[in-house]
Amino acid sequence: MKIERVNTHLLDFRLDTAFESASMRFDTRTHILVEIVCDDGTTGWGECLGPARPNAAVVKAYANWLIGQNPLETEKIWATLYNALRDQGQRGLTVTALSGIDIALWDIKGKVFNQPISILLGGRFREKVKAYATGSFKRDGVDRVSDNAEEMARHRAEGFHAAKIKIGFDLEEDLRVLRAVREAVGDDMRLMVDANHGYDSLDAIAFGKRAVDYGVDWFEEPVPPEQLAAYRAVREGQPIPVAGGETWHTRWGMREALETRAVDIVQPDLCGVGGFSEAKRVMDMASLYGVRVVPHVWGTAVQIAAALQFMASLVPDPMRGRPREPILEFDRTFNPFRQAVVKQPLEHYKGVVTIPDGPGLGIEIDRDALTEYRLKET
Ligand SMILES: [Mg+2]
Repeated sequence: MKIERVNTHLLDFRLDTAFESASMRFDTRTHILVEIVCDDGTTGWGECLGPARPNAAVVKAYANWLIGQNPLETEKIWATLYNALRDQGQRGLTVTALSGIDIALWDIKGKVFNQPISILLGGRFREKVKAYATGSFKRDGVDRVSDNAEEMARHRAEGFHAAKIKIGFDLEEDLRVLRAVREAVGDDMRLMVDANHGYDSLDAIAFGKRAVDYGVDWFEEPVPPEQLAAYRAVREGQPIPVAGGETWHTRWGMREALETRAVDIVQPDLCGVGGFSEAKRVMDMASLYGVRVVPHVWGTAVQIAAALQFMASLVPDPMRGRPREPILEFDRTFNPFRQAVVKQPLEHYKGVVTIPDGPGLGIEIDRDALTEYRLKET
């Protein structure tokens, strides 16, 4: 069995209403899927986190080392590709592109052995996960306080037990948003906050000291991801558990944050950290330090499916007693690719998502959607 072709599918949808986090503005939803085709017709799908065109360029560069390889040799291929661009790579696009390829190879492996990836990773500890709603982005010309309160009340009415609020814009306004949301959803809904590294450590500490009164589960990306000393200052200077890691790539990118306890919760992204091969290593590393793993998810149904397979295999830690179950990040902003690119959309029912148990990722790609939403070359 050999790899015959590597295709990239660039998807694009212009939003009616733009929205923004503290670090990024979204006018469109743009994603890249990776398709690897083998000589026996087996096809695997993956997704890369981040900008579609640059990722596609790196995937194409990697294709030189992929064609003719045995797709089941995932570790050998990972090491070969990583080494191929190591001197100029190590993190960023070289790893996000590698992530999409690795996910596609594991999808192939699952189809060849007729098993879901979670079984190949070691087993399924769970068949369902609770999801938390990610939304609450800033929208042009809209009052954030009332907008967020209304949105979060809607998520609660849909059955979500937890939701995440975007902060990092303005300290006082962020606190007003949090207070209004807590009042709107009541006391028994879990709330998290995500600053998308919009604060410095002093503002983050000031926010955390006051936000704790509103019952916040975790404080995500309080400060820029390169500033691990600032992360540690935030952990020590305020009482809310600190989360981060969606931009830390590979085991090397995670090492210092884990070793120095810069975070209480680490959030590898399957499509950014290095695919299943590397996410499993990060899970093992986190268990060395007793750091909880909650994957970051932001993409199409392919990414959600990859996160679900990984989450099924996450080892409860502690194994017995009262381990906290992982929760799935479920983006609630408008994105047609959560549903359109697969024949069986991955949906929640009252805030709970069932983990597919079919071969590989357990999804079937709808090729018509890939054509309909194809990114127009400019
Ligand atoms: Mg985040």
